[in-house]
Amino acid sequence: MTSVGHSLVGASIGLVCLPGFKKIQNRLVFLVGFIAVASLPDWPIPGWGHYRLDISHSVIVNGGIMLGLVLGMRGLAGPTLQTYRLAVVGMLITWLSHFLLDTLYVDSSMALFRPLSDIEISLPVPWLKTMPHVPPPFDRQILSIFWYEALTFMPFLILAAIWRVRSRSVVPGSGDGSNT
Ligand SMILES: [Zn+2]
Repeated sequence: MTSVGHSLVGASIGLVCLPGFKKIQNRLVFLVGFIAVASLPDWPIPGWGHYRLDISHSVIVNGGIMLGLVLGMRGLAGPTLQTYRLAVVGMLITWLSHFLLDTLYVDSSMALFRPLSDIEISLPVPWLKTMPHVPPPFDRQILSIFWYEALTFMPFLILAAIWRVRSRSVVPGSGDGSNT
C-alpha cells in the first residue's frame, strides 16, 4: 500500500477517536499523529521499514513494541492513559491496520507472523497495485495507483467525518481532553 491508503485510513480512525480538543492545532497534531502511525512500519529507519520487512512488518515484533509502550505509559502516566484510552486504542488499531492494508495489493503477500511462522498472507483487491518505482517521478502509472487507493479509502474518511459531526451534535459541550 502507498502512503495514500495508509494516510486515509489513519485519518479516518483518528477522526473517530479525536478527543474534544477546543484548539484546532491540537486536533491537527492529533490527526497528523494518526497519519504518521498508519505508516509507522514503513518509516525509513535503518534496520526498519523496507530495509527489514521481517522485523518492521511482523505483527509479532510490532505487537511486542505496542505492549511495551502501553505498559510503559501505564507505569509513567496511568491517569493520562486512562483519560485518553480511546485515543490509545485507536492508535494501536491504526498501527495494526498497516499490515492488513499491505496484504490488499493484488501482487503482494506478507509474512506477517515472523519469526514464529513464514506463512504468507494475501488478500488481493484487483485494482490495488504496487508501485513500479518509488516516486518521483509521478508518472501516469503512479498517479493511477494513488487515484485507485484514494477512491477505495476516501469513503472511510467521509463516513468518519459524518459520524464525527453526528456524534458531536448528540453529545455537546465536551471540553479539552475529554473523549467522546
Ligand atoms: Zn508497509
